[in-house]
Amino acid sequence: MSIEKFSLEKVLSVHRWTNTLFSFTMTRPAHFKFTAGQFARIGLKVGDDLVVRAYSIVSSPFDETLEFFSIVVPDGAFTSNLQHLEVTDELYLEKVPYGFLTLARYQLPLPQDLWLLGTGTGLAPFLSMLQDFETWQKYQKINLVYSVRTEAELAYADRIAEIVEMFGEGHTGFQFIPIITRDPHAQLHERLPVLIANGDLEKVAGFTLNPETSHVMLCGNPQMVDDTKDALKARGLTMNRRGEGNIAVENYW
Ligand code: NAP
Repeated sequence: MSIEKFSLEKVLSVHRWTNTLFSFTMTRPAHFKFTAGQFARIGLKVGDDLVVRAYSIVSSPFDETLEFFSIVVPDGAFTSNLQHLEVTDELYLEKVPYGFLTLARYQLPLPQDLWLLGTGTGLAPFLSMLQDFETWQKYQKINLVYSVRTEAELAYADRIAEIVEMFGEGHTGFQFIPIITRDPHAQLHERLPVLIANGDLEKVAGFTLNPETSHVMLCGNPQMVDDTKDALKARGLTMNRRGEGNIAVENYW
């Protein structure tokens, strides 16, 4: 990996949600342009090696800084070093962004209702999309569905409320639907594919997944992405290819 592909950026803040979940912000160079939903490649020097990982961008495309949401992978070469990150540390940022989990990919059906289904740190690209006014202008209904294991892992809940107030002012079609899978007392506590198959997700959302109108994005645990894709296909929804179809996905690791 050639170092010339990267710029060196400064860590501006670190926020720890739990022992294994944290967010950080860093400086954004003027050349780094991205579309909401894309990911960046971040590099960390481990000894003489540059270790690089993909991270979906949490920030708005209009922000002056870049924000990322990370899990500590046990014994992971990257995150076990990254978790000790401190303000003023430096990280490498690849100069170009990557990824196709963007709303611009949808041509048909026309934008009407948007379902953003994420697990864990797979929430990140959806936060970026919600900080883009165009998302709110395009869609009449937006459901942000966020599945975590415990309530403590429900990071960004307060930020989501702030984002909705700031970007979705006057929009009446937004719903935040948390799923807490290891809390039997939570309103929704089963896994996404089950909640789609048994109709409970739609019951809580108050409307149905519809092949004629729904755009559905999945991001997070690769097994969740696969299983949820199957559950959606069983309901008649199709993968989005060359602009047409309902489902777009990104595996988070
Ligand atoms: P997770 O195990 O992905 O769980 C997050 C949510 O996804 C939970 O609600 C979980 O439900 C649900 N889920 C898991 N499998 C599912 C499936 N097949 N269908 C539907 N829902 C599913 O937890 P996490 O904390 O985000 O990540 C856990 C592990 O993933 C980490 O320890 C790490 O090793 C790895 N990871 C790696 C990277 C990386 O960059 N390498 C990034 C993120 C995560 P349940 O409670 O029912 O399991």
